[in-house]
Amino acid sequence: MIGPPLVRVVRGQRILTPEGIAPASIHIDQGRISRVASVDDVAASGSMVLDAGDLLVLPGLVDTHVHVNEPGRTEWEGFETATRAAAAGGVTTLLDMPLNSIPATTTATALAEKVAAARGKTWVDVGFIGGVVPGNADALGGLARAGVLALKCFLVPSGVAEFPQVTEPDLREALPIIAGLDLPLMVHAELPAVIEAATLEAAAGDPTAYATYLASRPPAAEHEAIALVMELAAASQARVHIVHVSSPESARLVANGRSRGVRVSAETCPHYLFFAATDVPNGATEFKCAPPIRTSEDRDGLWAALAAGDIDMVVSDHSPCPLGMKRRDVGDFFIAWGGIASLQLGASVIWTAMRARGIPIESLANWMCAAPARLVGLGARKGRIAPGYDADLVVVDPDADVTVHAGMLFHRHPISPYVGRRLRGAVEAVYVRGVLAFDRSTGPAEIPPGELMGVRVTNHRNRAAEI
Ligand SMILES: [Zn+2]
Repeated sequence: MIGPPLVRVVRGQRILTPEGIAPASIHIDQGRISRVASVDDVAASGSMVLDAGDLLVLPGLVDTHVHVNEPGRTEWEGFETATRAAAAGGVTTLLDMPLNSIPATTTATALAEKVAAARGKTWVDVGFIGGVVPGNADALGGLARAGVLALKCFLVPSGVAEFPQVTEPDLREALPIIAGLDLPLMVHAELPAVIEAATLEAAAGDPTAYATYLASRPPAAEHEAIALVMELAAASQARVHIVHVSSPESARLVANGRSRGVRVSAETCPHYLFFAATDVPNGATEFKCAPPIRTSEDRDGLWAALAAGDIDMVVSDHSPCPLGMKRRDVGDFFIAWGGIASLQLGASVIWTAMRARGIPIESLANWMCAAPARLVGLGARKGRIAPGYDADLVVVDPDADVTVHAGMLFHRHPISPYVGRRLRGAVEAVYVRGVLAFDRSTGPAEIPPGELMGVRVTNHRNRAAEI
């Protein structure tokens, strides 16, 4: 479909609002939804009406776990390529992780560098996450004032030297400060001791066999880390969020903590919900991530945890790198960069799996739109089609049948374990605050419509907004 560059009304037979899917017209004023009315209520809006017909209209996805890597490692991804891919995948808001860029976003000065790098180059709205590393507790208040929407730390080595992991004493120092700032602390929860011991044991195995890599990162590393984080969160009353849960037992630990009053939430990612360890061919390092893709029983358990509400959301953990770093030449899982590129594909991947499991599309809007928006303080502005919300709208053909090929990917590097997979659903048109960001027939819009959220910087091309 070719949509108008700016819309005042989006109408259709299948509009997904918090009340369900029904015929409706969405009226837009200055980038916000002013009202949702009957489908025929479109008088006097002229050429600025988009009629989606029988296609599905969803709220734009909110992806709170994206590694853009700019500045400093722009050859890995970058704001331009990442946000074009996001738009093509129906993601209208993304949050950039504080690591893999240089500098890492661990001070307000580093955030300013990142904002300068992103300005004018974002096809979707972008917010920023600050980093918690050993010794930067004093910088967290400055990061919050400069506009980060969340914080992030690692309990295991992150893979890059400039973003070291924190230990229990570091967390005991930082968490009371974070509680005072009322920002969520996103935690990569795996403990190094468990992994070091398991890696020693696995060392005799074939490093190109996925099973060897899987054995080196057992679920116990995740479970013990989550138990520690929840104990510290309970003591400090800080809000914690467990990123990329790969094991159903982790979800149970989170649910138990929540029932005891710990302020904890959790996410999982498309790759843990779509693949199982037995799907990974030897040497196929495009599947490498940490924690690893586990068994099909684990995968089923994660779907059950989502259905039960023990896991709150699904976000990408898009973490790309240049092809050479995946070391497909040797296929060694232990030296390849860990990270799966999926920003453009998450919605289709999850929808494909949901269809197979008989789960209705409304759940996708909860897991990939509303819940992540709430996590980072955007719950009153993003993630729903309702009056007062930003007019971030995605027109989808849910029945389309698409085989992923490298040429359709807008990521800087078209490497992804989904290449060659048949997926259901296609994103037809994407609007960010009422402005066309992507159209399937013409590609990304010429002028990037994205804003930088939360930060206190303005400029001509890309107005940064105070939220
Ligand atoms: Zn990540």
